[in-house]
Amino acid sequence: MGEFKTRGIIIKQSDYGEGHRMLTIFTEEYGIIKAVSYGVKRAKSRVAASSQFLCYGDFTLYKAHNKDIMTVDGIDTIDGFYPVSENIKKLSLCVYLSDITYSLLGMNNPDIRILHLFLNSIYALAYRNESTEKIKTVYEIKLMCAGGYAPELNQCTSCGSFEIYAFDLLKGGVVCRSCGGKYIIKINKGVYKALSYVASCDDRKMLSFNADDELLKTLGKLSEQFISLQLDQNFPSLDYYKTMTEFG
Ligand SMILES: [Zn+2]
Repeated sequence: MGEFKTRGIIIKQSDYGEGHRMLTIFTEEYGIIKAVSYGVKRAKSRVAASSQFLCYGDFTLYKAHNKDIMTVDGIDTIDGFYPVSENIKKLSLCVYLSDITYSLLGMNNPDIRILHLFLNSIYALAYRNESTEKIKTVYEIKLMCAGGYAPELNQCTSCGSFEIYAFDLLKGGVVCRSCGGKYIIKINKGVYKALSYVASCDDRKMLSFNADDELLKTLGKLSEQFISLQLDQNFPSLDYYKTMTEFG
């Protein structure tokens, strides 16, 4: 492959050997990939300052034809979303959003729509006056819709009745009173309307609706359990985000 360029955002970083860093980068052309940034702890390293979680930019990567591992040769930063890294609650939410994205997409699976949803959410966390809970919930719903888990919202998933009583996390859609299974969350009109809006709206307008704390609480519970159940995975980063939320 040799040297090549791609635009993307770092969604995870971890130490690699002595003084190096393994970066997980969500790129436009190649999906989620891993690359090593060498010598990030050296003062003169060209890529040290940019080899950080949530750095968005143009990456110059290198892959030797006989090696599995990719290396980072350069990063031209477009945005570092610094207001996020200065706020532990927002930062812990971004770790969780990265985790569910990785869990759903896996490696080397490009998806420009999901990348833009992710970037829009990080942008909103950094620069817009929206609650973290709203951004979390909206991204969870949009991610599931874009990733092939769009919920059935028009009629009961089981019998087709138009009575809407609850959301069935396992069946992946609304159910009537007589069809609800073991994993249901009762929803009122407000929650249903907000859920329908987010699932069907233009991605760029995904945060353009009003919701009070009570509604977001139910919707957020629904979306996080829906993801966890459908992907069959628990996310410790979600628990960590919640402990941050308790302190403000
Ligand atoms: Zn039914």
